[in-house]
Amino acid sequence: MARVFNFSAGPAVLPEAVLQQAKEEMLDWQGSGMSVMEMSHRGKEFMSIAAQAEADLRELMAIPANYKVLFLQGGASSQFAMVPMNLLRGKTGADYINTGAWSKKAIAEAKRYCKVNVAATTEASKFSTTPAQSELQLDADAAYVHYTPNETIGGVEFPYIPETGDVPLVADMSSTILSRPIDVSKFGVIYAGSQKNIGPAGLAVVIVREDLVGQTIAGTPTMFDYSAHVENGSMYNTPPTYTWYLAGLAFAHLKSKGGLAAMAEINQRKAAKLYAAIDSSDFYANPVTTESRSWMNVPFTLVNAELDAVFLKEAAERGLMTLKGHRSVGGMRASIYNAMPEAGVDALVELMVDFETRYG
Ligand SMILES: *Cc1c(COP(=O)(O)O)cnc(C)c1O
Repeated sequence: MARVFNFSAGPAVLPEAVLQQAKEEMLDWQGSGMSVMEMSHRGKEFMSIAAQAEADLRELMAIPANYKVLFLQGGASSQFAMVPMNLLRGKTGADYINTGAWSKKAIAEAKRYCKVNVAATTEASKFSTTPAQSELQLDADAAYVHYTPNETIGGVEFPYIPETGDVPLVADMSSTILSRPIDVSKFGVIYAGSQKNIGPAGLAVVIVREDLVGQTIAGTPTMFDYSAHVENGSMYNTPPTYTWYLAGLAFAHLKSKGGLAAMAEINQRKAAKLYAAIDSSDFYANPVTTESRSWMNVPFTLVNAELDAVFLKEAAERGLMTLKGHRSVGGMRASIYNAMPEAGVDALVELMVDFETRYG
């Protein structure tokens, strides 16, 4: 068996130790005689798996006691609707910061439910930067402020957490959650699809301040009401049990590796190596302003796009997979989430240097 270095933006690489443990426990989870996939979600075995996953996530992120942690279906995209449905609370408008493709999707969905004030947009720069705090035109009467701390497609990441006063801040952290410690108390809601920096696809992790739960707009389906999930421990209906279990294994793995402070150090170093390789050459380019560059998703282009296919072929020959850029951006994109070993980044940099000497 040869495992490749998988630079996919999502579903993405998982820690090998997590896959090994899942393999060992596949047919018989801890003497239960069953796979986790076969268990009742209400049985004591799965209840313990679920509780442990939540406890480990709370510890990793230092989530304050007045926040609820939900494990929901529907991915991050369902949160684009659940956020306005739950957070409007009698108000008619919300602020959105537009920094790229995922912000735009969140905005389009919110417009179905409320008046969207685009508090800032970096579209004029082709989404190659983030707005400064002083550029945010926030509405004091907004129900909440929504932003995308890390734009997975553009590779643009906020270097700061927006200050929104008493207005709850909502963050789509799909591709940056768990990459470093953050102060959860600054947020009203944090949500993330699981398939980037948590575990396999099938879950959205939602961290919501408890005073924001229970005031949905009329007509909200029960499944879209945070309170239905809070009251039922994310088991209003059958949750995606196996994904929840694997997410739990990933949380325990992160704890064993020193938690998010240790991850931040490694992630910063991995990203710095890759950006240094791009910047030290005229052969490769990344359009994002230095302070807004993502630690997790690194898009780059070759000076001659006709070489893209050759680069991808040589990468694949070295076991460096899924480097093709998003169709809207072209070029390459290396997603280097927590589970991407530093050796994967080193191997990519080695290819880039070698490729340039031959084609530069
Ligand atoms: C991938 C992604 C999404 C969509 O996630 P789904 O789980 O597929 O709905 C939303 N926002 C960001 C920032 C993403 O990276």
